[in-house]
Amino acid sequence: MPLTVQLKTPLTGEYTQPTGLFINNEWVEGVDKKTFEVVNPTTEEVICSVSEATEKDVDIAVAAARKAFTGPWRHTITPLERGHILTKFADLLQANSELLSAVESLDNGKSINMARGDVQSVINCIRYYGGWADKVEGKTIPINHETFHYTRHEPVGVCGQIIPWNFPLLMLAWKIGPALATGNTVVLKTAEQTPLSALVLAKFIKDAGFPPGVLNIISGFGKVAGAAISSHMDIDKVAFTGSTAVGRTIMKAAASSNLKKVTLELGGKSPNIVFNDADIEAAISWVNFGIYYNHGQCCCAGSRVYVQEGIYDKFVEAFKKRAQENKVGDPFDEQTFQGPQVSQLQYDRIMGYIEEGKKEGATIAVGGERHGNKGYFIQPTIFTNVTSKMKIMQEEIFGPVVAVAKFKTEEDVIQMGNDSAYGLAAAVHTSNITTAIRVSNDLRAGTVWVNSYNMLSHALPFGGFGESGIGRELGEEALYNYTETKSVSIRLAGPIY
Ligand code: ADP
Repeated sequence: MPLTVQLKTPLTGEYTQPTGLFINNEWVEGVDKKTFEVVNPTTEEVICSVSEATEKDVDIAVAAARKAFTGPWRHTITPLERGHILTKFADLLQANSELLSAVESLDNGKSINMARGDVQSVINCIRYYGGWADKVEGKTIPINHETFHYTRHEPVGVCGQIIPWNFPLLMLAWKIGPALATGNTVVLKTAEQTPLSALVLAKFIKDAGFPPGVLNIISGFGKVAGAAISSHMDIDKVAFTGSTAVGRTIMKAAASSNLKKVTLELGGKSPNIVFNDADIEAAISWVNFGIYYNHGQCCCAGSRVYVQEGIYDKFVEAFKKRAQENKVGDPFDEQTFQGPQVSQLQYDRIMGYIEEGKKEGATIAVGGERHGNKGYFIQPTIFTNVTSKMKIMQEEIFGPVVAVAKFKTEEDVIQMGNDSAYGLAAAVHTSNITTAIRVSNDLRAGTVWVNSYNMLSHALPFGGFGESGIGRELGEEALYNYTETKSVSIRLAGPIY
């Protein structure tokens, strides 16, 4: 099979789409020569086919990554040079940012403006970690006069990384940035729904100066290539973003293989709390953005909205109007805010939750139906009259569906906000700084936004309490998930035992 195909996007015209596996700085077919089809969620038509990695290809990629880890990447290239390679990679991505954004919209269905935002965040993240490469320092630790003690933060080794389809490029950047900055090598598997943008990005790996085997990118299915990564005996660490159910499977596989290190960024059911004294117009915009950004396909989506009773009716009326103003449609239309859901399966899951909400007695205030008659589009949907035990209040829907509930006191809303197995994110809208700080302190969530939502930064740690995951991505903290600390003690004097 040829390892490229000529495709078109409305933004860039014709471009060359790689379709192979990127292993050891080369494009290859899978050993079994398997392929799978990639579907455009806007048209429901097949875009192209790409190579599918099986266990055998994972083995080959891991062997390449192992060889790279024990070669120049570890022993010749300095941390400063590693940083330069990462920043050069960021420069190449910057020069091709319109193409990357267009391919992201084509494959994932996200609006072109959101895709552009993602790609800029990808570039910022890779640059940021390029800057860290020569700043991962140990300590000297004074214990006694007879021994000199110091610590080193050494790379963990070969890292397997498994990413989801909701932010195909951004999740890749969050994973490879800290892993490569700290000197690890990587075998990354993209989600089977959205392999295309990462393959375009892979075109620039060699030119950036990464030695062969340092960064390998493969397309494939979770149960085949994903499972092969999480149970591999020669992978030292697995990093995963996706559903809590798959996170558990990966952790079990890691435990029953070689006890590889595990970091997990999983689901959420995040509370978005609006107090009587909030700037109501601004709060409505943030609540709208909190849930409908990326079509609700966001692990930190503000899917449970709690509004204090004094403004509840006014808020719901204005929010209904705001949600109906979101432009749903063609991702390549510059005015579009919400494109299609990523796949038929996701569309069906979300519609299933909407039906469940109706059955459980919640009221549909807005939406609840398919949008248009082609593509996986769903109307922005608001449920009211909800109770905390309803499925739509407990389970992650991962779509443009929000539930709005009323609360009386601060104490009540903290209890309601924390009534979830998840703990990824939360937000508080108030004009009272002490309310903001008290409530932020009491919410069980890895990120709390005050008077905003979804304001992520490459420099701020991100991750979850409870069933939302293990470990943190981004910021300085992510570096320590990609290093092993070694303590070295050098005897200078004293007794010999
Ligand atoms: P979703 O249900 O939203 O598609 P998943 O958690 O299933 O999200 O998928 C996220 C990523 O995990 C994808 O790259 C997918 O291929 C991978 N994956 C799915 N199942 C497994 C598994 N059993 N082992 C390893 N990876 C998996």
